Amino acid sequence: MSEPETKRRVLLKLSGEAFGGGALGVNPDVVSGLAREIAEAAKDVEVAIVVGGGNFFRGAELSQRGMDRGRADYMGMLGTVMNALALQDFLEQAGAETRVQSAISMTQVAEPYIPRRAIRHLEKGRVVIFGAGAGLPYFSTDTVSAQRALEIHADEVLVAKNGVDGVYSADPRVDPAAVKLEFLTYNEALVKGLKVVDSTAFSLCMDNGMPMHVFGMEPAGNVAKAIRGERIGTLVAT
Ligand code: UDP
Repeated sequence: MSEPETKRRVLLKLSGEAFGGGALGVNPDVVSGLAREIAEAAKDVEVAIVVGGGNFFRGAELSQRGMDRGRADYMGMLGTVMNALALQDFLEQAGAETRVQSAISMTQVAEPYIPRRAIRHLEKGRVVIFGAGAGLPYFSTDTVSAQRALEIHADEVLVAKNGVDGVYSADPRVDPAAVKLEFLTYNEALVKGLKVVDSTAFSLCMDNGMPMHVFGMEPAGNVAKAIRGERIGTLVAT
């Protein structure tokens, strides 16, 4: 008897900026466009998503303006849940089956984070959206993307970026000689202090051999290409 074919499984990181279209809150036009792309690609690939919350609050910024860091970080995490619900809504309108799992319990709106259940949802073709980050202050949703990718045994982490199409040798906005890199090791990214994702996310992936594909969300269609495995940005690996 032949083995059942295993599907590609990815963990897609979407920043809060992607939801707001550059503004505070959720821009329905932007999220629905994104959702249509994801829903289409998710017919062939198992897709789990970690959503950021920077379009609402970033704990570090609020704490610089006088708030307690832990409380501000919880506000940040709650913002990610709002994004998760918005994405769920538009994914379902686009015909995808979805589940939201939250790292902070709020059973009326989301399942609790249960890794084995998340894997089961993926196997059944559902798009799983992880909200509330890790449920822990002082973490970022980048780091959570690496952790969730490892725990659900994803093939790679896909980091969708706004306004940049991959990792560059230097900041392209500052250095006109900066070139886009096709490939980069985690060690190089850490040594050069590249801020594509935070260093905790890089090191978690490096220590556990999880590849990361950093790519630009624009033009439309890029997210679907990355989900299907087309190499359009920069591959970061061990
Ligand atoms: N956050 C947190 N713990 C986590 C994930 C997120 O405390 O595990 C908080 C933190 O304050 C962060 C905010 O949630 O600034 C929004 O997440 P993030 O900044 O990663 O979102 P993005 O920049 O991707 O939109």
